[in-house]
Amino acid sequence: DTGGKHILYMEDVTVSFDGFKALNDLTLYIEPGELRCIIGPNGAGKSTMMDVITGKTRPDTGVCYFGQTLDLTAMSETDIATAGIGRKFQKPTVFPEHTALENLELATAGPKGTWHALLKPVTGEQRDWMASTLDTVGLLGERDRLAGALSHGQKQWLEIAMVLMQKPELLLVDEPIAGMTRQEVERTAELLQGLAGEHSVMVVEHDMEFIRSIANTVTVLHQGSVLAESSMQQVQNDPRVIEVYLGE
Ligand code: ADP
Ligand code: MG
Repeated sequence: DTGGKHILYMEDVTVSFDGFKALNDLTLYIEPGELRCIIGPNGAGKSTMMDVITGKTRPDTGVCYFGQTLDLTAMSETDIATAGIGRKFQKPTVFPEHTALENLELATAGPKGTWHALLKPVTGEQRDWMASTLDTVGLLGERDRLAGALSHGQKQWLEIAMVLMQKPELLLVDEPIAGMTRQEVERTAELLQGLAGEHSVMVVEHDMEFIRSIANTVTVLHQGSVLAESSMQQVQNDPRVIEVYLGE
């Protein structure tokens, strides 16, 4: 029984690499519609945590449930994605030689990169949905521009739109603002806040100002476990958190 109200339920998850515990009894619960920031120094286990949630890495011990019934530790990466967990990696991987809209068409069709997707007729309903998703990420005006011609920030938003094509209930976003201008950072904060509610969103970031601007609850990872979990206000005044960051 996972208590019924969590979209993600991780308990006592441990992942070892050659005896080194990248995750060490990690326990984390995410509620539907929540926007959660995950912070922590380099090597804290943030990416490994996302790898466990998406099925890329199997935990040695512990449980990881999506909703109340789906045991993520027993599912393939493809099945997890289909079940409603989307992940946006740090580096944008848009198709530069296709337009913004075509990138969304490509994202709807099976494995990324299948050019066959562009040969399949798109229904009017699908096209409306793609246009409204481009609007959500602020790219409706760029729909017919080649993705390769977009700014770095716009490419990141396009990739978020591509992940949204999977209709994820839970969206994992790894370091979304790296390399962005201050204005793009502000736009990204608004975007992620807008996506929360309809989706549950987990964001890994380093930029404290950005986290302060978006987060309700912040989870601090350290040495593969949760060091602190509360409001940003409390977290940034927590002596243990300060010590971990100053020690970097
Ligand atoms: P973060 O994303 O918080 O910077 P990671 O989850 O990438 O941290 O890494 C956590 C720890 O696990 C680090 O010490 C890293 O070197 C180690 N690690 C991660 N993946 C592997 C791997 N495939 N093999 C060996 N060690 C790994
Ligand atoms: Mg990482």
